[in-house]
Amino acid sequence: MKQFDFIVLGSGIAGLSFALKVAAHGRVAIITKKHRAESNTNYAQGGIAAVTSKEDSFELHVRDTLEAGAGLCKEDVVRTIVQEGPARIAELIELGMKFSERDVPSAPGAKELDLGREGGHSKRRILHAKDVTGREIEQALLAAIAQRPNIEIFENHFAIDLVVTQKLGQPGPNRCAGVYVLNKLTGRVETFAARLVLLATGGCGKVYLYTTNPDIATGDGVAMAYRAGAPIANMEFIQFHPTCLYHPKAKSFLISEAVRGEGGVLKSINGAEFMDKYHPLKSLAPRDVVARAIDSEMKKTGADHVLLDITHKPAAFITERFPNIHQTSVRYGIDITKEPIPVVPAAHYQCGGVLTNLEGETEIEGLYAVGEVACTGLHGANRLASNSLLEALVCAHRAAAKVAAHAFDKVEVKIPFWQSGRATNADELVVVSHNWEEIRRLMWDYVGIVRTNKRLQRAQKRIANLQEEIQEYYWDFIVTNDLLELRNIATVAELIVSCALGRTESRGLHYNLDYPNPNPGLARRDTIVRKAG
Ligand SMILES: Cc1cc2nc3c(=O)[nH]c(=O)nc-3n(C[C@H](O)[C@H](O)[C@H](O)COP(=O)(O)OP(=O)(O)OC[C@H]3O[C@@H](n4cnc5c(N)ncnc54)[C@H](O)[C@@H]3O)c2cc1C
Repeated sequence: MKQFDFIVLGSGIAGLSFALKVAAHGRVAIITKKHRAESNTNYAQGGIAAVTSKEDSFELHVRDTLEAGAGLCKEDVVRTIVQEGPARIAELIELGMKFSERDVPSAPGAKELDLGREGGHSKRRILHAKDVTGREIEQALLAAIAQRPNIEIFENHFAIDLVVTQKLGQPGPNRCAGVYVLNKLTGRVETFAARLVLLATGGCGKVYLYTTNPDIATGDGVAMAYRAGAPIANMEFIQFHPTCLYHPKAKSFLISEAVRGEGGVLKSINGAEFMDKYHPLKSLAPRDVVARAIDSEMKKTGADHVLLDITHKPAAFITERFPNIHQTSVRYGIDITKEPIPVVPAAHYQCGGVLTNLEGETEIEGLYAVGEVACTGLHGANRLASNSLLEALVCAHRAAAKVAAHAFDKVEVKIPFWQSGRATNADELVVVSHNWEEIRRLMWDYVGIVRTNKRLQRAQKRIANLQEEIQEYYWDFIVTNDLLELRNIATVAELIVSCALGRTESRGLHYNLDYPNPNPGLARRDTIVRKAG
């Protein structure tokens, strides 16, 4: 058994920020299922929202966040995160993060932060590093981690399940004592024990057929926490990014909202602008409105994509502001300075998650959750663009401060060895890949941008059948990365559907044709699910 003071599951912005801060208080293990940089964080393009300009104010950022959240944000949480943002940004800059700057027009030779604009923001407030902000943040954090001998990173280690006292049949409050982890290089399951486990495993885009998320985003943290008995909230609110590159060979390449922020206009395939029919902010309307408008235009025209046109901007500006998007599109034969970009909506961000407070505490003692895996109440029914990196930074800091101030009891839990099936079967791979495809397709078709009761119920039945089959496999066969991810996406799919069925209204990202309007009675009510028994 490997013993640490703190176990951090995940090496994106949330996990790395927390690890850096608690390393002063004990030994830290970062467990991550692929290479250390592979995370949603690494692909974030647009940037981080924070109030850093004189023209902006906390009040405006709070207002924009509440408006996007459609009545479901927790205002105190929004205020705290918005107000603490600038201090966390300053720390990131101190660590070596370089945000893009521009010349100050009134003071020749001077530079200021080049603030971008995105949908739903009333001011320019997005700090970015060109269009590769996430990659730069990930590198800055990993470089700082490399300087801390107290932190050990376990790459290619897949966290399977949390060890909690309730499951071990011990009396008293449910407490987390460690985690079972598949070492993907040896195929063996190892036990890690610690006085605190942080879930920083990110989101669940891979539950859907089309997603902007990389392969790691299979909702493992939410599934593990649910199995461990933690309450999970608001999983019906999945944000679909309106503009993912539409190309048969491009797997989940996002065309950042900043392209619309800088003047990009949505058009149908015959070149007509259509957003004025849907929202006064047109192409810069909130993401849910834009995604539904595109969905509706595609259904009306029968086309399988729409177009995003920024060709009216100077080519030099486009290539300088969006070098990654420009170069990647050119690789697929599209020159965005000369022709519109074919785009489709795709699953992008999980607004719900493991229910936590601002310090990342969950209901299970010793189990914290920060980042996309958590539901703090910041996003409500819809996330305001670029608020997620901000939330991860602020909550990781608050969680670390809480931990530093808290004398944890020594955990006296006898953790049993992992028991697993021994069988391998040539049939297994095809069953796993078939079930993967089936879940992702049915989630896309029945639990996507526009929902109905009938489709949700159909999805629920199918998922229940698939789960039965997966459970059989799970207990009989040796665990593999693919089987574990399949089990988790099935659990997360079940949670999304049951939350969606529980919300008998349309609000923010959850749109159900059987209840097309918001129900004021549900405005402040989170949808909370927990495992029975
Ligand atoms: C293409 C794209 C663009 C985006 N652009 C922006 C943006 O401009 N601004 C913004 O604010 N947000 C953006 N987002 C969202 C934002 O990137 C994420 O919400 C944020 O990075 C999540 O950080 P995190 O640390 O919670 O999780 P992640 O960065 O996803 O990290 C999760 C980590 O957990 C590991 N992991 C998962 N499961 C396991 C397991 N079972 N065992 C071990 N390790 C595991 C993963 O390997 C990974 O290291 C974007 C997202 C995408 C996909």
